Amino acid sequence: MVTLDMIVQYAKTTGFIYQGSELYGGLANTWDYGPLGSLLKKNIKNAWVQKFQRESANNVLLDSSILLNSEVWKASGHVGGFSDPLTECKSCNQRFRADKLIEEHDHSVNADGWDTDKMYNYLIENKVKCPSCGKTDFLPIRKFNMMFQTFQGVVLEQANQIYLRPETAQGIFIQFKNIQRSTRKKVPFGVCQVGKSFRNEITPGNFIFRTREFEQMEMEFFVKPGTEMEYFEYWKSFCMNWLTNLGLKRENLEFDDHKPEALSHYSNATTDIRYRFPWGFDELWGIASRTDYDLKAHQLHSGENLTYLDPDTNEKYLPYVVEPAVGVERLVLAFLTDALDEETLDSGDTRQILRIHPALAPYKAAILPLMKKEHADKAFEIYTELTKYFDVIYDETQNIGKRYRRQDAIGTYLCITVDHDTAADNSVTVRNRDTMEQVRIPIKELRGYIEEQSKF
Ligand code: ATP
Repeated sequence: MVTLDMIVQYAKTTGFIYQGSELYGGLANTWDYGPLGSLLKKNIKNAWVQKFQRESANNVLLDSSILLNSEVWKASGHVGGFSDPLTECKSCNQRFRADKLIEEHDHSVNADGWDTDKMYNYLIENKVKCPSCGKTDFLPIRKFNMMFQTFQGVVLEQANQIYLRPETAQGIFIQFKNIQRSTRKKVPFGVCQVGKSFRNEITPGNFIFRTREFEQMEMEFFVKPGTEMEYFEYWKSFCMNWLTNLGLKRENLEFDDHKPEALSHYSNATTDIRYRFPWGFDELWGIASRTDYDLKAHQLHSGENLTYLDPDTNEKYLPYVVEPAVGVERLVLAFLTDALDEETLDSGDTRQILRIHPALAPYKAAILPLMKKEHADKAFEIYTELTKYFDVIYDETQNIGKRYRRQDAIGTYLCITVDHDTAADNSVTVRNRDTMEQVRIPIKELRGYIEEQSKF
């Protein structure tokens, strides 16, 4: 099993993830995605859009603003209620999220939905220790609102105060009516959105697992009230299949169905898909049946009628909503954790290999001239042609064995080598990353071959 330190080190040296603002001593818990990390993120987002929107006939995309009218966050309950329980160690003054302290103290406890008194009593009765100094003396818990505030315009006054969105979902709810009318979609249908969200987390950490700026991929699936459980189950397995089809090992994934008493006030069913991160199972993907809570709140607060008229039955209702919400960075961490491997070869050598699904691999293929002097021109010509369709890389430095190893280590799925026979037979040798087997493929079939290999 790889450790988190190994992944952090690997991600930096290969060019997946660097510390943010490193040149100036860093900015705590910010990370920059390098040449490989940007490609991996792009591929994860594409794979999500492909399955959740393009191949799901009822679903459409939205790209809403990060900055929204502050009334949105009042209506949704975020201004009053989007807060984490904050406590402070009286001895070392470190601040913590009380629910996380409790869950780390006893992994069988889920403190979701507990009120602050219940949490504080638990900390005292169970003599929970400060993770920083080991003392057992905490200040009473208070609620800490996680929304980043800023000001719009040139005058820093209260009237101009706005928030960076803490989730992408509300952008969807407030456009429900426009989307439904302009696309003439019939319920059930879904609206998918990928975009940045910001939360002033009390305790960010575990590398890219919890940060204050992150990307979410959320879908709001609008259904007729009474049918939500059927769709909740449908999207639960859809999400799980998406993960396993992209190569995550099923034994590293589990459903955590929330007990009725742990449900948020807006939800009648919630489950988390948890992944076995290097420190243990933790939330990867939240799937919630949110009833009509959000549409109702916006209808009430805005005074606009948001009901849907069923054209077949003439019934009018506020749709219920099923929402799968996942963070791109948590997926990056899960895919890297699952795929990073070291293998001992028959020769006794070891090779580092990132066994990531070809659909997600930063580069689908590397194009390599066997001998730089003789084969570079043809190899570069193939590379130029393939860049029209895929992310591929050209590499002519060092011997071919070293180049294979380098590509294995960053997950490149195929190595395409131009060699002595290429000029004669218009074919190349294609080596598979995982099996290291080599096949001879005509150059004109390369595009179709790569496409076929990258399907999921
Ligand atoms: P947690 O309990 O870990 O704080 P949450 O239940 O508040 O997460 P949701 O509001 O359900 O998370 O957000 C949906 C998804 O967005 C999460 O499952 C996670 O993948 C991602 N996410 C949420 N907060 C963060 C964060 N601070 N950093 C990175 N990803 C995040």
